[in-house]
Order: sequence, then structure tokens, then C-alpha cells
Amino acid sequence: MLNIVLFGPPGAGKGTQSAKLIDKYQLVHLSTGDLLRSEIAAGTELGLKAKGLMAAGMLVPDDVVIGMIDNKLAQNPSSNGFIFDGFPRTIPQAEALDVLLKSRGTGISAMIALEVEEQELISRLLIRGQSSGRPDDQNETLIAQRVTEYNTKTRPVADFYKAQGKFHSVYGIGEIEEIFGNLCTVMDSL
Ligand code: ADP
Repeated sequence: MLNIVLFGPPGAGKGTQSAKLIDKYQLVHLSTGDLLRSEIAAGTELGLKAKGLMAAGMLVPDDVVIGMIDNKLAQNPSSNGFIFDGFPRTIPQAEALDVLLKSRGTGISAMIALEVEEQELISRLLIRGQSSGRPDDQNETLIAQRVTEYNTKTRPVADFYKAQGKFHSVYGIGEIEEIFGNLCTVMDSL
């Protein structure tokens, strides 16, 4: 199995590039942000809990997202592999993912980080907010809050995969196709 953690701050282009990667490599896309937004849309209890935190630019609790990922792994037993997008976002999530995959006889093949400077992220998210309607993309204060959560809780997850010798990075500013080509070079080297 090819199991990839696509990593990067909010607005780095993980969703865009995941869509292209799953198509080319026949992988299943697991985005915890998308899963949480469908729980909110469906009005579930989990969605209600997550909604306020997400709208405030805060992470939702680890056990919530780990449970969602466990369910999705169970629903796709014969997949070629997974692209994890927006997960793991904390060290405990990364540790839990290793356990979940190991219990299924597999593991993470690589983390690929999309590198984008902070100023570019903020302007991309403000533009996305005009069309996406996402409450967390609507103003600079909320976006800054998400970037702070990223810098304090999520950035250290890269070190977790570096220590396992699985870290790769690709520059995330430029043409979508060019960035995709650079991601494919890493994928094909695995
Ligand atoms: P972005 O990468 O643009 O921030 P996402 O759709 O990945 O967007 O996430 C949106 C929000 O969903 C996050 O700000 C956070 O509140 C919540 N979320 C998504 N994934 C996780 C996760 N793995 N752990 C905790 N919270 C998460």
C-alpha cells in the first residue's frame, strides 16, 4: 500500500493536489476537514461539537478525528492506499495513525510537505473565503488563529516523520501542474 501524509499549513494547496494525486495513483482521499464539514452539514452530534471550534480556528479534539479516520480505514479495506490530508495535525494523532495502520499490517510510506510562505497563505485563504463560504476563511484574525495552531501544534508533526526518515518537501508556489509534477517525482521515488 502507498500511504501518504500530504502536509502543509492551511491554504498550502493540499486539497487541490490531493484530488490530482488520488486520480493518478488510485488512492483514497481522507481529509479530516472534509469529514468534519460533512458531519456539520448532516447535523450530527459530532458535527455540533466540532462546529464552534472550527469556526474559531481551533483544532477539534484528537479522539474525534482519530475515530473518524479509524472508521474510514475500516470502510476501505481493499484500497491501494490513502492520502491523508489535514491529518495528522498533532503528535498524538501521528502516533495513533501509526498504531491504526500497523494493526492493519501497513504503515505510512512518506510525508510530503507543501512549503508556502505565510503571506501567500493568508491572501489565498481570503480569496477562497469569498467563494467557499467557509466561516474560518472569512477574516484575517481567524486565519491568523489557524496559522498559530499550525505553528504550535502541527508543525512538530514534520519532525515525527523526519525521525522515521520519511519526510519530503515540495515548493507550493507556482503553477498547479508544475507543483503536481514535483509531487509525482517524489511519489515515483518511493
Ligand atoms: P485548512 O487546511 O485550510 O485549515 P481543513 O479543512 O483541513 O482546512 O480544516 C479545517 C478545520 O477543521 C481546522 O481548522 C480544524 O478546526 C478542523 N480539523 C481538520 N482536521 C483536523 C485534525 N486532524 N485535528 C483537529 N482538527 C482538525
